[in-house]
Amino acid sequence: MDKETKLKLITACAECMIRHAEELTALDQAIGDGDHGLNMKRGFEALLADATVLSDKPLPDMLKAIGTQLVMKVGGASGPLYGTLFMALAKEIDDTPSLPSASAAFASAIEAVKARGKSELGQKTMLDVLIPVHRVWVTGGGTGLALAAQAAAEATVPMKAIRGRASFLGDRSIGHMDPGARSSQLLIETITTVLGA
Ligand code: ADP
Ligand code: MG
Repeated sequence: MDKETKLKLITACAECMIRHAEELTALDQAIGDGDHGLNMKRGFEALLADATVLSDKPLPDMLKAIGTQLVMKVGGASGPLYGTLFMALAKEIDDTPSLPSASAAFASAIEAVKARGKSELGQKTMLDVLIPVHRVWVTGGGTGLALAAQAAAEATVPMKAIRGRASFLGDRSIGHMDPGARSSQLLIETITTVLGA
């Protein structure tokens, strides 16, 4: 992958997270502690500041460095989980991934997040976007991912949270979109737009 594309990916994702910080905060205020927007903004501002250096690295090294930054800067539950996602992607991907190899890397990254969060599909978390999007990728060959992500994030609204802070609310977590599902959706939307998928 060329440097320009990597730079575009980092910049677009960071700008998107910064732009949506207040919305993510509002979602987390409804069913959590209201820090998801600030957490993500802090992490992605750090990536934006490092964007030139990061995009000079081969894709696997770039993803590993992004994962490390996210663990250090995002904090909360989502920092280590997004960090795990990117670090696991880094382990499996090469610098010029084919669609099937990228999809396989995404599958192992999802498994790593599940293991780290002791979480599964249907528990009202970021996995409720990541897993359905991966399924659509496998069946549809890389198209329609942004729409799938949007539908998946919306589908977290009626779910009851079983993992994370929102689970403390029990039934009162029903009726709100999961903040981590929304941030995952935004990232997928941005990445597919930049890659023209
Ligand atoms: P915290 O919950 O520590 O305040 P954030 O607000 O930044 O951290 O992130 C909350 C998001 O993290 C949730 O909306 C959910 O998507 C995700 N999350 C929390 N716990 C888990 C888990 N065990 N597995 C997967 N995702 C999780
Ligand atoms: Mg929170």
